[in-house]
Amino acid sequence: MNILIMGPAGAGKGTMSDLIIKEFDIPHISTGDMLRENVRNQTELGVLAKSYMNAGKLVPDDVINAMVEDRLQQPDCQKGYLLDGFPRTLVQAEAFEKIAEKIGRPVETVLALNVDFDILAERITGRRICPKCGAIYHIKNKPSRTEGICDECGAELIQRKDDTVEQLKVRMDEYENSTKPVIDFYEAKGLVSKIDASQNANATFAQVKEALGKVA
Ligand code: AMP
Repeated sequence: MNILIMGPAGAGKGTMSDLIIKEFDIPHISTGDMLRENVRNQTELGVLAKSYMNAGKLVPDDVINAMVEDRLQQPDCQKGYLLDGFPRTLVQAEAFEKIAEKIGRPVETVLALNVDFDILAERITGRRICPKCGAIYHIKNKPSRTEGICDECGAELIQRKDDTVEQLKVRMDEYENSTKPVIDFYEAKGLVSKIDASQNANATFAQVKEALGKVA
């Protein structure tokens, strides 16, 4: 199955993606995670991406398009993909049409997660992530068993540099200006399922499953 998951920062894309890949045998490809890994490993790409990311700005389209094209050639994408955080601009969406055609895996469905700003701000500022295994926590809604320590691997949890209310505002503006047109682009193709993601993870996943059931 070839799925895109879209939504503003804090909408729960990571959490929904974890649940989706448990049920469907496809890789979760998050461009944000790929970039953060490059930043951690101080690759050429990571050094370039870091300043954009810390400012909540988008990394240039050509850099991202090449990174995604390369990733989708990997053997684990033969059954499909769950792309998270890409395409984020119309330029990326148009480039992706060609990439998807080249690999013979056109987009089948787009999950668009919607949440109000106040809920996003609460989620974003309380979010803690494990820099080692990628597990996601929230200080109130999903605390780790021991404060500040990952339940899965024991690493010390961190707060992402861009998980502040100020950066959220920048990222929301970016989302409105750059990413909403991408949803319109897929809506015109009849591929979008709108998901009310302001509810808890179970209730949100129930809607996701219903949407995916239509393409499975
Ligand atoms: P995310 O984890 O999806 O919120 O992404 C974190 C940051 O990585 C974003 O604020 C951007 O700076 C960068 N990024 C991730 N995906 C993309 C993309 N498709 N296009 C441009 N920048 C991206």
